[in-house]
Amino acid sequence: MRISEVLSFLEKKYPLEYQEDFDNCGVQCGDKEQEITGVVVCFEMSEATIDEAVRKKANLVISHHPLMLRRGICKIEPTHRVGKILCKALENKMVLYSMHTNLDSAVGGVNDTFAAKLHLQNVSVLSPIPGGMKKLSVFVPKAQAEEVRNALFEAGCGHIGNYDHCAYTLEGTGTFRPLQDANPYIGKPGETETVAEERIEMVFPNHLQKKVVEALYQSHPYEEPVFDIYQLDNQNNKVGLGRIGELPEPMDAEAFFQNLKQVFGLTMLRYYGDAHRKVQRIAVLGGGGSSFIGQAMAAKADVYVTGDVKYHDFHSAEGRMLIADIGHFESEQFIKEIIYNEIKENFNTFAVSLCETEKMQISII
Ligand SMILES: [Zn+2]
Repeated sequence: MRISEVLSFLEKKYPLEYQEDFDNCGVQCGDKEQEITGVVVCFEMSEATIDEAVRKKANLVISHHPLMLRRGICKIEPTHRVGKILCKALENKMVLYSMHTNLDSAVGGVNDTFAAKLHLQNVSVLSPIPGGMKKLSVFVPKAQAEEVRNALFEAGCGHIGNYDHCAYTLEGTGTFRPLQDANPYIGKPGETETVAEERIEMVFPNHLQKKVVEALYQSHPYEEPVFDIYQLDNQNNKVGLGRIGELPEPMDAEAFFQNLKQVFGLTMLRYYGDAHRKVQRIAVLGGGGSSFIGQAMAAKADVYVTGDVKYHDFHSAEGRMLIADIGHFESEQFIKEIIYNEIKENFNTFAVSLCETEKMQISII
């Protein structure tokens, strides 16, 4: 099996299109068309991670944080941390791959898992990805409309919130005249034809376009199917950074913080606000989430749990919402298990392991 087959599988569930503009998810270096020998999953790439992969005879290393961001390094020399890691990986014919904000935003990714760990209910996305949807409009002869509609549903069209098989159909008349070289499904070359057709409209997420167009061509009877694809400004409400939901029962903020410490194995957390008030509506965002404090407040969160909150950022909530900073690493530490389980449960022809040499790099005394 090639490395690219494993990566394609992961990208179906965690599409690279979901990444933020600054990010650089996906292959960092190496030839993904080589045969896979094993996978090591880590949080952050380091020389020790590469050494461990060499020892384990694994040629694919998957991390959460990318080694390079979009405006990152432009020289690869073993004179700095990133260059050393890349040189060592390439010397050992490895592929380095990262699942960062695409994993944060996707359904079942970092933020969904964060919300699930706190048993939040009625969970929705705190900051949905804007413009992640397209609309397909296709003209089909009435007799084949059902078959085409079903093929497009199968390819992932027509999914809106908690509904699937969403489509709009309008009946009308299509006209065309096949030219001499045509091989028409209906009609004869040189004669104008009129056909009772349906115009079918459906939405789909950007990353499914290739699959949707393939399904359209395979199911549509015409030699030249006519269709339009539009980019929408609508949000994809299922995908994006952060989540907001409710605890089953209101509880004291202090008790909530104690539970938070237990769930994430924290020795401490930093918070701002009145710990004696009752809380129920909880916003979460794994990693550094200071810039989403306003969105958590707008969503009427009682508490916003994230990492990397600066002193003055705490004040921006003006005491109306509690903010808990549990640390960047601590709020994302479970990510490795998501990637590991995804591979373990779906592939059995190579070994996958969690990086054993990695440890929290910032200490508390
Ligand atoms: Zn992070």
